[in-house]
Amino acid sequence: MSHSPVWHPFTQHGLGEPIPLIDRAEGVAIYDADGKRWIDAISSWWVVTHGHCHPRIMAAIREQTERLDQLIFAGWTHEPAENLARELVAITPEPLTRVFYSDSGSTSVEVALKMALGYWANIGEPRDCILVMEHSYHGDTIGAMSVGARGVFNRPYEPLLFDVGTIPFPAAGREQATLDALEAACREKPAAFIVEPLILGAGGMLIYSPETLAEMRQICASYDVLFIADEVMTGWGRTGTLFACEQAGVAPDIMCLSKGLTGGSIPLAVTLATDAIFDAHYSRDRSKTFYHSSSYTANPIACAAANANLAILRDEPVAERIATLGAMQQRQLDRLADHPRLAGHRRIGTIAAVDVVADDAGYLSDLAPRLIGYFREHGLLLRPLGNTLYVMPPYCIDEDDMTLIYDGILAALKV
Ligand SMILES: *Cc1c(COP(=O)(O)O)cnc(C)c1O
Repeated sequence: MSHSPVWHPFTQHGLGEPIPLIDRAEGVAIYDADGKRWIDAISSWWVVTHGHCHPRIMAAIREQTERLDQLIFAGWTHEPAENLARELVAITPEPLTRVFYSDSGSTSVEVALKMALGYWANIGEPRDCILVMEHSYHGDTIGAMSVGARGVFNRPYEPLLFDVGTIPFPAAGREQATLDALEAACREKPAAFIVEPLILGAGGMLIYSPETLAEMRQICASYDVLFIADEVMTGWGRTGTLFACEQAGVAPDIMCLSKGLTGGSIPLAVTLATDAIFDAHYSRDRSKTFYHSSSYTANPIACAAANANLAILRDEPVAERIATLGAMQQRQLDRLADHPRLAGHRRIGTIAAVDVVADDAGYLSDLAPRLIGYFREHGLLLRPLGNTLYVMPPYCIDEDDMTLIYDGILAALKV
């Protein structure tokens, strides 16, 4: 094989692990040029919702490429972005009325943090502290890393990361400690609290209750602390409802969306905000402008893909598919119930997770790469987070493929 100049993300090239060359994808599967098939059991890192290459999304992209490819979005606009923004305002919690475009989950978080600080600065009450939840993940840019968990993934950059206030994860039975810590922290007048609603993804698929989410939102409201919901992973039905916040009746001040926004086909992100946050930036004074932009802000092709995604959500029985997938996940997870090496079986909506228990830490540390290798050899795209195995497939998966995923997990645990 010839040497590749590509430097892959989250990949230790020094270990020489094989990197399959993928040629095409359809529905729940990806294929190499020889036709070898892998089930994409993690939706290509949590982005593909309906399935790969959904015909309506592909058609929308094709059509848009023949009209308008790209447009500066400072001072100019286009239909795909206007339509998408109107639709997003209609389907997200009511107080969210403004839509700011960017191009990845990380940038949508950076925008959220800048909006929060801009809000306080512009109303003449500058605040700069951000509260975060233990084990959170919000992206890999410097600001997003700063509000996420610290560890081996960001140790070299730690001197550049800003300080935050961290409240404990509300594990079952220990919710009150989280609420008390949040309330104490809110008394210090932080700018905002940023949280992954109902499930912490990269932190290990850690699930907490809608009641706790609702109470955290209430505490922030009563202390006038902005509440930022990072729905980059949880959005678009993953947790069983279109947005996780819905299950708690929570309306955030700021909401971040990306990943499944285009059905997982092409990069796009939005940060939604309330009138109050927009109004704090609305002025005849140019210094109050929201100074943020990316070159490809609201790229028309990406917006067209997102509009097609929303049309699919409107016209196709997506809610039923999500409910069916949830039930399938539960049946499969139940097959693992008594496994001696598994613990912490959990599920929310379409996402199921379980922890592999091992007797010695050394074994645990190379568990994920060994399992990933096994799965790659056996037709499965699965990528455990440390010792946490999780399954998060596209919504179009059928029972046969689902059974193959869990058969593969059971077989991998034997080797
Ligand atoms: C993936 C993720 C991000 C970062 O999104 P990118 O598009 O990878 O930058 C932010 N927040 C959460 C909750 C995520 O899961």
